Amino acid sequence: MVLSDLGRRINTAFQDLSRQPTVDAGTVDQLLKTVCSALIEADVNVKLVANLRTQVRSEVSALLNDKANANWSDAQRRQRVQKAVFDHLVQLVDPNHGQQKTDPESGAQVASATSGPSDVFKPRKGKPNVIMFVGLQGSGKTTSCTKLALYYQKRGYKTGLVCADTFRAGAFDQLKQNASKNNIPFYGSYTETDPVAISSAGVASFKANRFEVIIVDTSGRHKQEQELFDEMREIDAAVTPDLTIMVLDANIGQAAEAQSRAFKDAAGYGAIIVTKLDGHAKGGGAISAVAATKTPIMFIGTGEHATDLEPFRAQPFISKLLGMGDITGLMDKVEEMQMNGGQERQREMLKKIEEGGTFSIRDWREQLANIMGMGPLSKIAGMIPGMGQLLGGGGGGDDEAAGSKMKRMMYIIDAMTREELDSDGSLFTAPVRHKPTPREAGAVVQHQEASTSGDGSKKKSKKKKKAPTKVRMTARARRVARGSGTSVREVEEFLMQYRMVARMVKQMGGKNSWMRQMSGAA
Ligand code: GDP
Repeated sequence: MVLSDLGRRINTAFQDLSRQPTVDAGTVDQLLKTVCSALIEADVNVKLVANLRTQVRSEVSALLNDKANANWSDAQRRQRVQKAVFDHLVQLVDPNHGQQKTDPESGAQVASATSGPSDVFKPRKGKPNVIMFVGLQGSGKTTSCTKLALYYQKRGYKTGLVCADTFRAGAFDQLKQNASKNNIPFYGSYTETDPVAISSAGVASFKANRFEVIIVDTSGRHKQEQELFDEMREIDAAVTPDLTIMVLDANIGQAAEAQSRAFKDAAGYGAIIVTKLDGHAKGGGAISAVAATKTPIMFIGTGEHATDLEPFRAQPFISKLLGMGDITGLMDKVEEMQMNGGQERQREMLKKIEEGGTFSIRDWREQLANIMGMGPLSKIAGMIPGMGQLLGGGGGGDDEAAGSKMKRMMYIIDAMTREELDSDGSLFTAPVRHKPTPREAGAVVQHQEASTSGDGSKKKSKKKKKAPTKVRMTARARRVARGSGTSVREVEEFLMQYRMVARMVKQMGGKNSWMRQMSGAA
């Protein structure tokens, strides 16, 4: 099952739960049944799925039967059930999530290994950092080498690629072509046949020229694991890498567990990149299988282009899978865009937020403008909370739809007044000071009718009196909708997304936050 289908099915199960009048053991079982059968169809190991089911069931039952929670509303009960499923899905792709672990080198306590790539490995500035790649033929190793080189180059590291694949005809040409296209210096030979000799010479040459990240692509001749690990040991001894990365094709599904375990045993400390998660991959199976071995997944490959490499973080991954957005991924992208230029502006924004300022609609406009320049939009759009769902879950696929959706968001912002732009959006929900016109009031009643089920007319007229707060928002939204050539519904949708983003930006913008560290402001 394609990964985005898995997300969509779980999301639909969540929505079904929201429609249930009460939340009890029966409705929870129904939800779990759908979630678990979707996971099994995505090739997640049956035992892992059974564990998830048992754990969620017992956690939820304890919560719902706890006398202290007796006065929870159905909405609260629903939320807690969804949260329990969400948390256990996160644990499925990162069993260490939220736990401390010991750094193998320093012995220090660090956060879970998959809380982000730089928790797994952070290249030291001004020093040579050698990264060796291994992987079975066709796994996407050469492609991932270029992707990772580009990733570090964009973050300001002087980066070079060494082609030590002497077996496959055309391997050097492939790497050379990929590297040249992305302006990454490379090293290789058409005549030398010994991969160990090439790796050593290439690494030495880049070190002599003060390169900071040196990526070695090893031979792709391996059909068997044993050969792969033998060569890995030989090159390892020659270039003493700071990190060894194994590339795994998501299409192998659960078989990823055996490979990942063998790699962990052979390499000691290393990380994994799971590729082809954009395809008809048994993606859920591969990721959960690797996670079960507690070998850190550092990145995932989501396409054939050099920019289709996403840092793997468990919580945002699940959040994006379920169409809830991935704000950390989004900020990663924005930061990447701003490395060469607008970094100063980003720092100013962070400072403002840190000092209690507002992440305004104007700030959001600026970030959106950056995002639109990043492409491919369908991938980026899935990172915006609420946007993935609008585009059909996970945000994958339709570039044109994502592009037009984002353009319409821009039109909406551009139709706002200066005061509205600099606000946190609350202007749109401020109480009115004038009497609503019949048309405005009508709009509200209609809105309420849609959300009230079968109430008597007495109740309706009571609600009508409460209308003003909504009228004010609708009046503003109506004006913005008219000015932007969109609908009131779209304006409201935009404001809802903006609020979600602003809330998350605020949470992330504190002192010592990763966002601050990444922008170099720490
Ligand atoms: P290697 O033999 O392991 O070096 O594999 P390559 O890097 O040559 O990749 C094999 C094929 O997989 C190529 O056609 C790549 O374009 C493709 N590929 C690599 N990574 C991804 C990915 O994340 N998504 C998709 N769809 N294709 C990928």
